[in-house]
Parts: sequence; structure tokens; C-alpha cells
Amino acid sequence: MQLIDRISNIFHEKFGHTPMHIARAPGRVNLLGEHVDYNDGFVLPAAIDRATYVAFSPAGTPHSSLVAVNLRNEASFSPQTIPSKTQPDSRRLPDWAHYPAGVMWSLLEEQLVVPAINAVYASDVPRGSGLSSSASVEMAFMIAWQSLGGWTLPSMQLALLAQKAENRYVGVNCGIMDQFASACGVNDQLLLLDCRSLEWQSVPLPEHASIVIADTSVRRKLTSGEYNNRRAACEEAVRLIQKDLPEIKSLRDVSVDEFNRFAGNLPDEVAKRARHVVEEIGRTIQARALLEAGDVQRFGRLMNECHVSLRDLYEVSCPELEAMTRIAQSLDGCYGARLTGAGFGGCTVNLVVQEIAPSFAESLAKQYALETGLRPQVYISRPSQGAGLL
Ligand code: ADP
Ligand code: MG
Repeated sequence: MQLIDRISNIFHEKFGHTPMHIARAPGRVNLLGEHVDYNDGFVLPAAIDRATYVAFSPAGTPHSSLVAVNLRNEASFSPQTIPSKTQPDSRRLPDWAHYPAGVMWSLLEEQLVVPAINAVYASDVPRGSGLSSSASVEMAFMIAWQSLGGWTLPSMQLALLAQKAENRYVGVNCGIMDQFASACGVNDQLLLLDCRSLEWQSVPLPEHASIVIADTSVRRKLTSGEYNNRRAACEEAVRLIQKDLPEIKSLRDVSVDEFNRFAGNLPDEVAKRARHVVEEIGRTIQARALLEAGDVQRFGRLMNECHVSLRDLYEVSCPELEAMTRIAQSLDGCYGARLTGAGFGGCTVNLVVQEIAPSFAESLAKQYALETGLRPQVYISRPSQGAGLL
């Protein structure tokens, strides 16, 4: 494979020998359960067949040396320089290196052995488009350090430590879904995760259905502020509903009927945000039964409903996501289409009849380009195995 040859060659040029191992960790796409992971809800992602690959060997020096091929950039860090986010020569650590350095930080916090590493890495997960390139980088480095450190942790534990790195070292307040999907992916299966208990099961992707991912080519704007506002609205809804239902701990604990009874006590915007979450959690519970029964048509309809809710209640869509979704839903063989990831740009996820997936992808790209003047990337994707050594 091209990416692997490329990082292996660059590794050889830079470090003078072939890498000891190559770690791979996939990106992910979420089919249902959007903006519910931080409300203790259920999510239904799949690891995808696009991934970050890290060629690595033990460094034999006090510091780790990294080459990020896609960014044409290099950086170094050691346990001594990590807290100050600097490099051994005192320059500041570039932002992209916070992800692998954060993984080392998180592992050191656990008192694990984390040897210095020489690493060259590259990815075909597009950055910042909602397919979780950041979690794929973190999980690939998790696997690399696990193999050099001589210890083994369960995949979910590695995911939690990667999430801690992103929350506490990088400073992004993400839920557990991204790292979980990258860590625990299963070939040809969707993953149904209970974000409260962290129990999960795999559910087969319906037979004769394909996942098509369509990148609008618009990168999200203002996300951290908008994202934090929405998290705050969900927390406020819980506080206000607790006046009537003191036993609830999160929106997960509120049924749609209960919500309808108490929604009038919430400020309008808070009520809209919370309604999305409560109804979306209801949809994921229905989805499990539909998938187990092989009812792909009705599952697709839940995806369409999810999109409407993200647009009108959670208000995280944008004109390009609307165009991509509308065109997809008008094409033959589309079971369901919706924006995926945090929103404000990035990708849509589409579930389509397998036999027509190639022509669907072609028509979608063509019509979107005609309508918007933008050049989208559209790919047919298979659920893939989670992070591991090649
Ligand atoms: P996403 O939705 O893709 O996870 P994020 O904003 O969470 O978007 O993470 C993107 C960041 O992750 C990039 O800005 C970069 O710092 C890091 N990253 C992602 N892919 C790579 C890569 N191939 N090489 C180096 N850093 C990467
Ligand atoms: Mg991310």
C-alpha cells in the first residue's frame, strides 16, 4: 500500500534503518446518535477503511522524534519537555504534535513504561472533516507505545487514555465515541456503544447496504465555541428538569414523554437542544431493534430524521451540508443521509443500496459540484478493524 511504503521509505532516509513496526488506527463515521455521547446516550459508529499509519522504532535517546509526513513537519519531545509543551531545544511544540505528546503524557500519568520513539506517520483520514483524524492519530501512537512498553491494556482502556490526552493535554472536550470506534472497530460491523456504561456490541452492517461518505470540502468554523454552548445548554436542561425529576443525572434519563411534559419550563433554545438529544437517544434505541431485524429501510429513515433534528433543533448544519443531504436523499437507492460529526461543514454519511453505490457516489459528487461550485470527495467505505499493529 502506498502510504505504508511512503512512511517506511521516509523512516529509512531519516533514521538509517527500517522501522521495527507499523501501527494502524482508523478514522470513524457515526451512523446515528449525534451529539449524544456527552449526554450519556448511545452512539452507532463504525471504524472506516481510512487510517493513520505510524512507522516506528525505539529511539535509544531521551527524546522522541516525529515526522508528520502530511504536514511536512517534524517535532521532538521528552517526558521533561511535555508539561511545558516545548521541544528539547526550547522551541514550542507545534499544535499537531500535541496529539502524540498527549498520548505519552496520558500513559506517563498511568505510571506505564513509555520508551522514547522514532516515528514517521501519515494518514488518509481527512483532517477536520468529522471523520476523527485526531483520534486515529492518538490510537496509532497508543498502539506504538503499547508494543514498545511491554504492557497490554484492553482496547477500551486505551481509548479512555487517548480521550484523556485529547481532553486534558490537547484541550479539546470530546466524548469517548471517536477513540472508542478507532480502538474497537470490527470488519463489516457497526458498533453500538452505551456511553454511560461503556458496554458495547457489534451489529452487522445490513446486507446489500454500503456506507458512502461525502465530504462537502467546507471545513467547520467556530466549532469549539458552538460546541461548548451546546454542551452547556444540555447541562442547563438537566438542572432545570431536575426540579421536577430530581433523580435524573443526564438527558439519557429523560424519556420523550417526560420531556414533553417539562419542556415548557425550559428557555426556548435550551428546549430545542435538549429535545434533539432526548429524541436522538430514542432513535438509537429503535435502531438497534431495526438493525437486528434487518430493516434497513426504516433504519435509513431514522438517519433522515436525525438530520432534520440536527438542522432545526441542534442547529449545527450549514448550506453545503444541506445541499449534500438533499441531493443524496433525492437519488435512487438512498436509504438515509445525514450530516455526521460535530457539524458546521465536514461530511455527510449515506446508507445506500450496495449495487448502486458507485453510481450514487458519482451522481452525488457531480450534482453537488454543479450546485455549489465546490469539488467534493465522495468515497464508498467499509467498516474496518480497529487499531493494531500491521
Ligand atoms: P477531526 O474531526 O479530523 O478529528 P480535529 O480538529 O479533531 O478534526 O483534529 C485534527 C487535528 O489532528 C489536525 O489539525 C492535526 O493537528 C491532527 N492530525 C490529524 N491528522 C493528522 C496527520 N495526518 N498528521 C498530523 N497531525 C494530524
Ligand atoms: Mg477530532
